[in-house]
Amino acid sequence: MAKFHQSHIKVRTHTLVEGLENPFTENRHRATYLAEKLVSFSRRRGDKLTRLQKLAILRFHNDKVYDLRDHIEYTDHKVLRAYIDLFDEFFFFGTLSFPCTFPFKHKRKDGKFGAVKPEYRWEKRFKVILYDRLPEENTRYKRLRGYVGTLLHEMIHAFFRLWACDYDECSYTRDGIGNRGSGHGRAWQDVAFALEKAVRDDKLLNLDLKLDREAAFALELFVDDRELVGMDFD
Ligand SMILES: [Zn+2]
Ligand SMILES: [Zn+2]
Repeated sequence: MAKFHQSHIKVRTHTLVEGLENPFTENRHRATYLAEKLVSFSRRRGDKLTRLQKLAILRFHNDKVYDLRDHIEYTDHKVLRAYIDLFDEFFFFGTLSFPCTFPFKHKRKDGKFGAVKPEYRWEKRFKVILYDRLPEENTRYKRLRGYVGTLLHEMIHAFFRLWACDYDECSYTRDGIGNRGSGHGRAWQDVAFALEKAVRDDKLLNLDLKLDREAAFALELFVDDRELVGMDFD
């Protein structure tokens, strides 16, 4: 966190539409401002799509790696790698791939499907971790649908942690990211709802993903921030 609070930065719509450079500055944007951008850009369709969104959709329609059905033979790892790029370009202005790593942990964690943790390698800032799925998700489609939903859920956390102002009163409010122990406040919820709707849109991705918004909301209400300060977001 910067030693003194610095003013919040806004980004020109043109910069976001062209997507030629990283439009955001680390921890310099108000959380609610970022949420508005993510929500409004997730609603773009047709001619209004950004340069990166058009590329992402083109790949989605032409590459079989995005097909989650049982008879397709790409490995989970390959599929998830492809979805990281798709989501980053379609929803996050291509701003997550560079500062994040995406390790897939082959272990189970009780009640946890994913997490965002600080990363201390090179210039990387965060790692977005996916844990193994439940045994009842016993077909390729069920398993991958679970992974991809968790991936998108965690990418929203990573986006806020990278670009939202890190001061409590600016971002870690009920209307913002929520408390630090959970991170599923109003801004996160608004984005999760909008992105879930966009992926389900049959004119867009037509994917029936779940971002676990209800469980996340319950967690936000019941965690005690004092107890959980410093814990990982999940
Ligand atoms: Zn601030
Ligand atoms: Zn979460």
